[in-house]
Amino acid sequence: MLAARRPTPKYLGTNNIAGMKWCHQKFIFRAEANEGIFRRAYEDDCKRLGENLSVDQLITRLEAVDRRVVTLPDGREAVVSKWGGKITPADVATAVKGLLDAAEVKTVATKATLKQLGQLAETRDRVLKRREEAKAGQRLVEGEEELIGGILQVLSKEEVRLMGAAKDSRPTAYAESDAGTHERIVIETTDGLGRGLFAQYKYGEQLPSIRYHFAHRDHIIEADPDGISSDYCYEFKLVGERFWHRFVRPTAVLQASLYSYFFQRPKYRIDVYIENERTMESLEGEVDSQWVQNELDKIDGLLSGSLEPLPPNRVKCSSCEFSHECPTRQPS
Ligand code: SF4
Repeated sequence: MLAARRPTPKYLGTNNIAGMKWCHQKFIFRAEANEGIFRRAYEDDCKRLGENLSVDQLITRLEAVDRRVVTLPDGREAVVSKWGGKITPADVATAVKGLLDAAEVKTVATKATLKQLGQLAETRDRVLKRREEAKAGQRLVEGEEELIGGILQVLSKEEVRLMGAAKDSRPTAYAESDAGTHERIVIETTDGLGRGLFAQYKYGEQLPSIRYHFAHRDHIIEADPDGISSDYCYEFKLVGERFWHRFVRPTAVLQASLYSYFFQRPKYRIDVYIENERTMESLEGEVDSQWVQNELDKIDGLLSGSLEPLPPNRVKCSSCEFSHECPTRQPS
């Protein structure tokens, strides 16, 4: 029988949920690690757009995105995206400065603390394991319980997760204009994870969209489609080579279907760009609401521990960032 888990994360992301199609266990890891990110997105939505907006209200407020490729002082390229208005030279300057500042912070953190932060995360995991052993009846040495309590007080879960994530974070800057229009400006370099945005800008559909949240049972789910048309939501994915297409496609279908379900569009549409072939695989279909609900119903089971995660194809484990701590890892 599976052990009961901690209280389940309340704030989730649609991309995170669609990741169930990639790997159940990875979905659990990411849901726990990223709850703070989605809570902040929820708070930001409420501040920018208001609370409890209906789909009809959201559709009247779809934001077109303006995108521009800029060259950074170090020669790298970056994409500046602005929702709800045209990019101005001042926007570019602010975004580039934000990106460089973020990169600077990252460099300092890398030099000074990342190793220590990783060690802190490991310490906390060991301490939690020790506490579980104590609950299971194993004796603790004198003073150990007090020590455990002290360490856990200092190292909150989110702090440690953020510390761990910092080492992999991409230099992305986010800025809101102060003109009272709540425009969102994001800049991402076109190396690393930013490649997806760059490819979408070059090869994908350019549709307006909006980020908002939807309630499902005890969860608040953030949804930020790549595009919303009158009858479908759109999802763009990038894969390096065709081999990965068959694995990415189910995730993309669920993600686009979830968006369409939340924004009440009857269809979904996905584009998967295969980088080394420079070809696009496209797919569209009717949204199967019952199937989407069934997938949403798996969330609580997986997060609470009442539904056992299915093992994924082993090829996914070989490059997984959670492989060192994963109980479901498949041997290579
Ligand atoms: S190591 Fe494998 S099973 Fe574990 S989270 Fe990663 S992909 Fe999933």
